[in-house]
Amino acid sequence: MMLTTDPALDHVTGVLNRHAGLQAAHRVLSESNAEHSHSAILWLGLDRFRQVNQSFGHVAGDHVIAVIARRIRATMPACCEVSRMGNDEFICLLPGVDTTEAELLAHNLLTVIEAPLSIGDIQFRPSASIGIALHFYQEDVLVFLERSERAMAEAKRQGGNRCIVSGTEPVPGRVGILLAREELAIENDLHTALETGGLMLNYQPIIGVDGSIEAIEALMRCKANGRQISPGKFIPVAEKTGLIVRLGEWSLLQGARYAALLQSIGMPTKVSINVSRLQLISPKFTQAVHAALICANVAPELIELELTESLVMDTSEIVQTNLRSVRNIGIGLAIDDFGTGYSCLATIKDIPATKLKIDRAFVCVLPEDRRAFAVVRAITQLAQELGMTVVAEGVETQDQLDSLKQAGVDAIQGFLQAAPMTEDALRTWLHDRKMQ
Ligand code: C2E
Ligand code: MG
Ligand code: MG
Repeated sequence: MMLTTDPALDHVTGVLNRHAGLQAAHRVLSESNAEHSHSAILWLGLDRFRQVNQSFGHVAGDHVIAVIARRIRATMPACCEVSRMGNDEFICLLPGVDTTEAELLAHNLLTVIEAPLSIGDIQFRPSASIGIALHFYQEDVLVFLERSERAMAEAKRQGGNRCIVSGTEPVPGRVGILLAREELAIENDLHTALETGGLMLNYQPIIGVDGSIEAIEALMRCKANGRQISPGKFIPVAEKTGLIVRLGEWSLLQGARYAALLQSIGMPTKVSINVSRLQLISPKFTQAVHAALICANVAPELIELELTESLVMDTSEIVQTNLRSVRNIGIGLAIDDFGTGYSCLATIKDIPATKLKIDRAFVCVLPEDRRAFAVVRAITQLAQELGMTVVAEGVETQDQLDSLKQAGVDAIQGFLQAAPMTEDALRTWLHDRKMQ
């Protein structure tokens, strides 16, 4: 791993990160417009990278990415700006280069990348797919980037290890283009929100069937450029672009601070914070959790982390080590949205989780769906026998609540009792409840 503190650089490869890459594209293209000169771009995606990650783990994956980045840097001319755009994708911005030169460079790159590299005692032959686009005078930067990415996707579709020049591949449907643009707009909004204080956490109570407050869940909200974006939209984009790591660290710290505040005013309440895959596969995860606890000066028992089912079941060593070490500190672990993944019941016994949250999909069909009821009751029993607290998510009606009580769940979360609310509103809500 590269040791860099420069926020514009990707820490695995040392080339520009996605945000800095997009800024570089804006700069190069405005110069190219001003000078009426050519500019080309290569969008490179590694073939079969997911297999590398799955079979050898993320550390080996990072090693492969770092080697490929070095090969790209060594092959490209000095004027070329190289950036890492995502997991296994890079762009090379080539000012003053026309299509013929760009094709030549792309073919060279394919040859250089193909040299075998070692993962442990196995020799791996990487290959890549490259999309090439030449910038039209005054063409929008995002449209230009999209064209090269689409050409790369077509090169992949044709079997990989090849390059395709934009304009020669089939044109995607309008819906596909609109979706890609919306994602780029959301990514931009997320950066703005991070820079302008547009992020905030709302909190939703999780209430025991006996009326006690089990915990409150921190749910992120994002407002940027005058519009509110729902987590259903911005979380997937943050995950895809890697921004989720910064967002996640921010919500850890904010959530921990709020837990400390509630404790200081005599209403100690456990705060449950959602954690994403990219955070959990980072070797720095435990450190980030420690830092949040120390900065907020809060006891670990007042913090709980929510992880999706597939993430908790991930058997890779880094995930399991991170899960164990946060458990060892005394932080609770909740399995979120349980029932939407495909976990094998046998592995549930090995998970260090303290809480299981049954997904809304089971709850919203209650009480009519007797089969769903049977599943909820069985899961509840199993999880309780394994020592976990069972929460039902998305409870909206009294009938659902009655049915869930009958199934034996410990606590519920849903609009029936309380919707997510701002810090101040929740403080008042807790206070009023205490007074009752
Ligand atoms: P989740 O963790 O399963 O959170 C519960 C979601 O269900 C929340 O949606 C909440 O507002 C909604 N909800 C609560 N009660 C009800 C109900 O009675 N009926 C219905 N229909 N919905 C209910 P929200 O806030 O839109 O968040 C959606 C998802 O975004 C979350 O699902 C979580 O996976 C993700 N998310 C939110 N904040 C963060 C965060 O800080 N970090 C990460 N990694 N993910 C987050
Ligand atoms: Mg959650
Ligand atoms: Mg959930």
